[in-house]
Amino acid sequence: MYPIRVCSCLGGVLSIRQALLFVREEFIELLHSRSYNEAMEELSDVSFTIGRLVGSIVGRPYVRFLGDYLTLYKMSQRMESYGCVRSKRNLAKRTCR
Ligand SMILES: [Zn+2]
Repeated sequence: MYPIRVCSCLGGVLSIRQALLFVREEFIELLHSRSYNEAMEELSDVSFTIGRLVGSIVGRPYVRFLGDYLTLYKMSQRMESYGCVRSKRNLAKRTCR
């Protein structure tokens, strides 16, 4: 499972199609990053979604993937401060499940 405590927003095993869409989304965000730090964070998000894609192939919600550390760290900070893995920007639109 996840190496950190997560909320149910991340859900279970993704379909391969769904996981591919997430990889694509994060890759586009990476291409639009405006600074080195932002690019590093987005690169980590891409790694994380690749981990979810590998998970969808082997039937697990997530598999640790090279370079996913920043994303896991970011999510654990969010869990600690407001109990959801989603960013505050995303939470404004939808509540934690
Ligand atoms: Zn949540």
